[in-house]
Amino acid sequence: MTEIYSKNLLKDQVALVTGASRGIGASIAQNLSSAGAYVIGTATSKSGAKKIDENLEGKGVGKVLNVTDAEDVKNIIDEISSNGNGLHILVNNAGITRDNLLIRMKADEWNDVIAANLSGIFNTCKLSIKKMMKQKYGRIINIASVVAHTGNPGQVNYAATKSGLIGFSKSLAREVASRNITVNVVAPGFIKTDMTATLSDDQQKAMMENIPLNRFGKVGEVSDTVVFLASNSASYITGETININGGMSMN
Ligand code: NAP
Repeated sequence: MTEIYSKNLLKDQVALVTGASRGIGASIAQNLSSAGAYVIGTATSKSGAKKIDENLEGKGVGKVLNVTDAEDVKNIIDEISSNGNGLHILVNNAGITRDNLLIRMKADEWNDVIAANLSGIFNTCKLSIKKMMKQKYGRIINIASVVAHTGNPGQVNYAATKSGLIGFSKSLAREVASRNITVNVVAPGFIKTDMTATLSDDQQKAMMENIPLNRFGKVGEVSDTVVFLASNSASYITGETININGGMSMN
């Protein structure tokens, strides 16, 4: 984590980070806890939850959660609330890809991505804002993607969810602003994780040609921005999308 963040920045704050077992989510969980927050990080498996536990070294806990399961989400948010320390930060990072050209895309490939990337944030946000509205404070940060702006062949499902997530976030930002809850989006470009490891060398080379900074991004470059948006320094920012893509799409 960048040194500008002190370990007291998010002191006494409780954060829920979905998809914290690896990649960008693991870095977000790590950075939020380094900034002083108590982090509940989630994975879809027990082994993933155990790994989060180990990574957080007592400054948080790993839990099993499938964001597509509303009952699962309710249980975890109830459990967080039951300890009486509140829920201040929600980072909706969990996401999947099931790439295919539309002409070949199966209904399952469409439905799975909609369920994980879009219905998942419906589930987590709906239940979290109830708690945040009561405490009159909240920071929601949703992870989109550069393809929400640019589109990408083979990703009509994924791009639809990431564009949808931006519209969702702007609308929710307007609904909850009066309760001192901000809702923002971070849209990464090409970041080296398991998700992008499946791309062929040719695909990676083609992508590199569209990155003015001429390199892929690092997970820490995304998670530093998430810490900023979760902090008081970002208290007057809501409904915004911050692009972290080496210049791939300039608005
Ligand atoms: P990743 O390495 O594939 O990790 C995905 C995470 O999401 C894992 O922790 C996974 O848990 C979790 N997850 C998947 N489905 C879930 C579900 N149904 N319920 C709960 N958790 C679930 O992905 P990443 O590259 O770090 O990407 C993280 C986010 O950034 C995603 O939203 C992605 O769309 C976005 N993003 C990534 C890039 C990139 O270049 N990497 C670019 C733009 C946007 P398990 O470990 O249990 O499977």
